[in-house]
Amino acid sequence: MKNIILTADRPTGRLHLGHFVGSLRERVRLQNQTEFDEFYVMIADAQALTDNAGNPQKVRDNVLEVMLDYLSVGLDPQKVTFCIQSEISALPELTQFYSNLVTLPRLLRNPTVKNEIAQKGFDKSGVPVGFAIYPISQAADITAFKANIIPVGEDQEPMLEQTREIVRAFNRTYNSNVLVECKAILPQNKESLRLPGTDGNAKMSKSLGNCIYLSDEPEVLKKKVNSIVTMPRKLEDPGVIENNILFVYLRAVCEDKHFEKYYPEFKNLSELEADYQKGGLGDGKIKQFLYKVLMDILSPIRERRKELQNQIAGILQILRNGTSKASQVANQTLHEVKSAMGIDYYSGNKYEEEQKKRFANKN
Ligand code: ATP
Ligand code: MG
Repeated sequence: MKNIILTADRPTGRLHLGHFVGSLRERVRLQNQTEFDEFYVMIADAQALTDNAGNPQKVRDNVLEVMLDYLSVGLDPQKVTFCIQSEISALPELTQFYSNLVTLPRLLRNPTVKNEIAQKGFDKSGVPVGFAIYPISQAADITAFKANIIPVGEDQEPMLEQTREIVRAFNRTYNSNVLVECKAILPQNKESLRLPGTDGNAKMSKSLGNCIYLSDEPEVLKKKVNSIVTMPRKLEDPGVIENNILFVYLRAVCEDKHFEKYYPEFKNLSELEADYQKGGLGDGKIKQFLYKVLMDILSPIRERRKELQNQIAGILQILRNGTSKASQVANQTLHEVKSAMGIDYYSGNKYEEEQKKRFANKN
């Protein structure tokens, strides 16, 4: 079997630390350290419009912002095919055919979709149909490329389960083996599965305005780190590390080398945690350290992004070429899907022959 990697991001804002630890870091690792046949990264603008229908300019601007983030974290256009979802017309066609294999209650049972419906207030105003079916369109994105490896954060697990169900239902119903089952590659540490926001909310998310963006300038980063709310306590009281966002972030990003560079009193995070739990170590110190660690990781990304901002024409060309390649691959899968469903009327003269025979038998 081929190894085909695919992931996508919604162009609803610049990419943030949650994307980095939940998916981008894993994508760069897969790109540099594994064997694969194809690697697609899709900018899911059509999906972004499902809850931003009235704000197309936001989506339009963020297509390039997200592309800049991809290249600045080190995704390599020599190895990765970048593409734009709305330019690949086979995707909505596949979505339409898959929709027949999914019930409405099954769609709305998806816990991620349920959460998002409440978060966006759709439980009060009504859920746009396009939004409710976005997991089906995600199944189209994945299966169009026969992708089997999907590096994502934990919130995407229900989407991948839904995709696998569609694949099985399709192959069973149409007695085919056209579609391929996918599996998630989740981040390697627990905190990165779903990184919380700076406001303590359960998920850092562009739509919740609680993000540390990869492109934040040092002063913005400092402000955000300093604004993280921790439990008030007397300095000498023992510090609590459970659900302490500062330590959640440190566990997600810091390495022993950061202690050597910025906090040599401690060898590693376990030592720092032990000392903090004894009492006497204030949150100000932890914030200073976290800021330095984040600067260490994000500064090179921010610098590369600044250089890339002067190469917009070349970047858009990369996206155009990738989209054209992706479109051809998706068209081929659509062709196979239609054949399996028996709606390939004009491929060769099979349909004509078959129908002639049917009428001949009647006479
Ligand atoms: P939106 O609020 O518009 O949905 P988002 O911040 O949730 O944006 P997406 O584009 O939906 O970002 O997600 C892209 C990828 O990043 C997915 O694989 C998702 O699992 C991962 N991801 C997003 N936020 C986090 C997070 N806080 N922790 C870990 N992974 C995340
Ligand atoms: Mg999301």
